[in-house]
Formats: sequence, structure tokens, C-alpha cells
Amino acid sequence: MSPLKVLGFSANALGQRLEPFEYASPELKEHDVRVSITHCGVCHTDIHAIDDYYGITTFPFVPGHEIVGHVAAVGPEVTGLKEGDRVGIGWQGRSCGKCEWCLKGETQLCMEIEETTVMVPYGGFSSSVIADYRFVYPLPPTMPSEIAAVLMCAGVTVYSALRTYLTSPQFKVAILGVGGLGHLAIQFAHAFGCEVTAISSSPAKKDQALGFGADQFVDANDITDMRKVYYGFDLVICTANDGINWEVLLTTIKKRGRLVLVGFPDLKLNSTNLVAHDLSITGSLLGNPSTMRAMLSFAQEHGITPMVELMPMSQVNSALQKVKENKARYRIVLVNDMN
Ligand SMILES: [Zn+2]
Ligand SMILES: [Zn+2]
Repeated sequence: MSPLKVLGFSANALGQRLEPFEYASPELKEHDVRVSITHCGVCHTDIHAIDDYYGITTFPFVPGHEIVGHVAAVGPEVTGLKEGDRVGIGWQGRSCGKCEWCLKGETQLCMEIEETTVMVPYGGFSSSVIADYRFVYPLPPTMPSEIAAVLMCAGVTVYSALRTYLTSPQFKVAILGVGGLGHLAIQFAHAFGCEVTAISSSPAKKDQALGFGADQFVDANDITDMRKVYYGFDLVICTANDGINWEVLLTTIKKRGRLVLVGFPDLKLNSTNLVAHDLSITGSLLGNPSTMRAMLSFAQEHGITPMVELMPMSQVNSALQKVKENKARYRIVLVNDMN
């Protein structure tokens, strides 16, 4: 039997626009599942990866890690999934299973992380993808595929950070940035029962931020507005990637409070407030498989609904451009039109 051909879109060199790309699908290993892709969200980290911001990209590179599709084939050791099941896959498609972090169940911190993304060999802007079944998640039957796609990366990223650091429902929480991650973080934090403040440099997003569940909106560029929330928050989740005034932001955090970074902004700050106010700055990456499952049922139960714009996968370059220009409201999901 000739090997299955996968059609996708790849960057063939650093920063390049994506071109149609065809490759022979690798054979399934015993724990692998092949998923025929129907939807794939476009995440800011796809652009970072095309630009090799993380220093781990190899070309040709097929991005895409907010994947939804149907199980097309399963390896002999796969349990709990069968052909035809509707599933989601995020950044992580496998893990080494042997390192300290895998043994603790925190597989997203696997020491072999470069080998564990779904981009091995290639990612979700394509007709199919292969992942270890332990990182392939059955979806709630009534959850629309485009909604589930966005939850696979943006959803689990903010849910995991909130679930870890939101240690009291009395916490006052600020979400910095109202974009793909931020608009979901507002919804999750609201559903956790907290008082939520949206901080954004786009005042035009105020009404939508309040609609997502924010109790108040603060204009990040308005120093008077920012002073009103001086020492205001126990926890600030930073979903923004640029344009952040770190000095001013730190003054909005209560003493002993915490700033959690879930995007990848360049962090430039004077340490005075950090030290004088006993603050913590923490990074938070994705979530482990049990967090992923808990996030899906929490999202279903609480009606967490990303605002999604659908585009055909063949228009992937226009979609990436929109994300680069900050024009996506709030997440673009590509619908596979290559079959
Ligand atoms: Zn992502
Ligand atoms: Zn590992």
C-alpha cells in the first residue's frame, strides 16, 4: 500500500510565507493516532515559531497546534479512542515518559520538549497529523469544533495558569491584553467567581471585555486609569506580547502578589517594585493532560465560548497576516478546505 499523502502549508525558511506542502505520512507507532483535520486555530506562537523566536524550528515547518478532527487510524496499543471519534490536540503531541516531569505527570515540562510537539514531523495546517493517543482528547459531543480548537492551546494556557495561581475566590484578578488568550482568560476567571479587571491598550475593546465577564475595564495607556488600580490585584495574568509598560503594571499588583506570563513578551523592567513589594513573576506553559480534560469539561459546563472567525485553510497566509496585525477578533480558526 502506498503511504498516505498529507497536504499542508509549510514555511520553507525563516519568516517566509507558507507554501503548499505535501509529504508522506509516517507509519503509526504502537501508541499513535492519525487524526484527519477539520479545524485548526491560528495562534500567535505559530508566527513566533515561523520566525524561530524559540530557536527550535526546523524547516520546512508546518505550524498549527489548535487541532480538531476525526480519528482516522489507531496504533495497536491505543485504548479509549476509535476511528471516527471527534478529538482535539494541542501543542503537545507526545512526551518522553521517562524524565522527572513526565514521571510527575507534568508532561508539558518534559525535558525532551523539542521532540514532543505535534510538529513532529509536521503540524496542523494540514490534512492530517499524528500524535500519541495520551495527548489526543475526546471532545464534549455538543461543543462546536471551532470552539474546541481554540481551547486546545489558548484555553488550556489560561485555564491552567488560573487554576494554579488563583488560590482564593476572593482574589482580585487582572487580565492584561484582550486578545486570543485574554478574552478567554476573562471568561475563565469570571467563571471561577473572581472579580475580574480587563486591562488593554485598546479602549475600543471595552464593551466586548465587559461582555466576556470583566467587572471593569482599564485603559493601559491612560495613566490616570492605571493609578485607580494601584495595589489593586492579587494576580495579574499577562496575555499581551508587546507594548507593555512593566513599571506601571507592577504598581497595580498588591504586595506579595503575582504576575503570570502566558504569552512570550520581552520582559524589560527595573527591579525596584519587584523587590520592594515582594512580588513574584512566573511563567506558565500550557497544561498537563489531566488539566486539558478538566478544562474541556469546565468550559462545557460554564459555557466558555471563544469568539471565533472562520477562514478556509487555503487562506492561511491572510489569516497569519491578520494575527500579526492584531486584527483577529479574537481567534481565527482555519477550516480544512483541501479534501
Ligand atoms: Zn498556541
Ligand atoms: Zn519527559
